[in-house]
Amino acid sequence: MKIKFMLLLLSVVLGTGNLNAQHTIEGIHYITGKPVQVTIKNGKIKKVKAIKNPDKTYDYYIAPGFFDNQVNGFAGVSFAFGESDLAEEGIFKATNELWKKGVTTYLPTLTTNDLDVLRKNFKMLSKVMNDKELRGSIPGFHLEGPFINPEDGYRGAHPKQYVCLPDWGEFMKLYRAADEKILELTLAPEMPGAQELIKKCSDKGIVVAVGHHNATKEQLDEAVAKGARISTHLGNGCANMINRHKNPLWPQLANDDLMISIICDGFHLLPEEIKTFFKVKGVDKTIITSDVTSYAALEPGIYKTETGETIELTPEGMLCYPAQKVLYGSASPISKGVGHIMEVTGCSLADAIQMASTNPAKLYGLNDRGTLDEGKRADIILFKINDSKIDLLKTYVEGEMVYEKK
Ligand SMILES: [Zn+2]
Repeated sequence: MKIKFMLLLLSVVLGTGNLNAQHTIEGIHYITGKPVQVTIKNGKIKKVKAIKNPDKTYDYYIAPGFFDNQVNGFAGVSFAFGESDLAEEGIFKATNELWKKGVTTYLPTLTTNDLDVLRKNFKMLSKVMNDKELRGSIPGFHLEGPFINPEDGYRGAHPKQYVCLPDWGEFMKLYRAADEKILELTLAPEMPGAQELIKKCSDKGIVVAVGHHNATKEQLDEAVAKGARISTHLGNGCANMINRHKNPLWPQLANDDLMISIICDGFHLLPEEIKTFFKVKGVDKTIITSDVTSYAALEPGIYKTETGETIELTPEGMLCYPAQKVLYGSASPISKGVGHIMEVTGCSLADAIQMASTNPAKLYGLNDRGTLDEGKRADIILFKINDSKIDLLKTYVEGEMVYEKK
């Protein structure tokens, strides 16, 4: 009994058994490049203090955890494919596996599918998202489709039979099923009814994105004027053969009021595309996303999707959909994108983290996270960088360590 009490006392002192206990984490600050000590209390950052005369050399960085705004699934768990056998345990599993990659916040992304399946999955996700075990890692959802362009190429891997015209009534049914937690809607602005839907969703505070579209300059500019704020995975969800003058890429690059998200997994975009997009939009208007699917973290090979499509995961980690000669989403977590964009553009670590953590938090108005500042959630990662690759050491969510590299 006495030993038990002593152990309990020890765990409280060490901060391992009491969420409210204060503890500190140290590392090289991702912006200043100098060692800092971060004090954590009640799951939040209480203080960030420079370590003046460190008595040891730090060889790892400290930064806010990653925020991925496009997660279709992870590690065998899918949020919306086919019949979708999404279960509560799957949501916990995907979240835990994402923590192991440094992702402390993500938007489960539901893509074009049967509307009943979408509603069913939104219901389940919105019920589970507030579970204490998930520690607030899921603040809401991204609905990508079904109001996209049905043409081959632009549609990408979204099943054609479920693509439908933008419709406020249908959207609201999904929105209510999601307990009003759809934070982002990706649609094609050229479809009939799209501009009206953009306006209505924007007025509600939902982030509207353009994606899987073939909008003209006029349609694109009108969408932005009506409230659209970001291009979803610019350079993808686009036909392979396009007109060199009139294509959907130029207007999206030319519109200064439009942010972009880009998939930096080394397969979705060429280095020169990433470099150019980044030069045009800059660090404040670029978000790194993953578009990661349930096939992430699986063995290479041929897979049958739940809708019966044949897809291939190559040994290099490329996920292909041979029937349409397009990629079938990604198998690389956002952490890969952080290293890749630094390598390709020469941007700083501070810039890369801003694009993978700070910018998305800001876009959705989630002011409680996204930076390593006092008062923010203690969603923190410790990592090294080797050969432009993030080597994750530890992940903390709300101040609790949820992953440590063995
Ligand atoms: Zn997409």
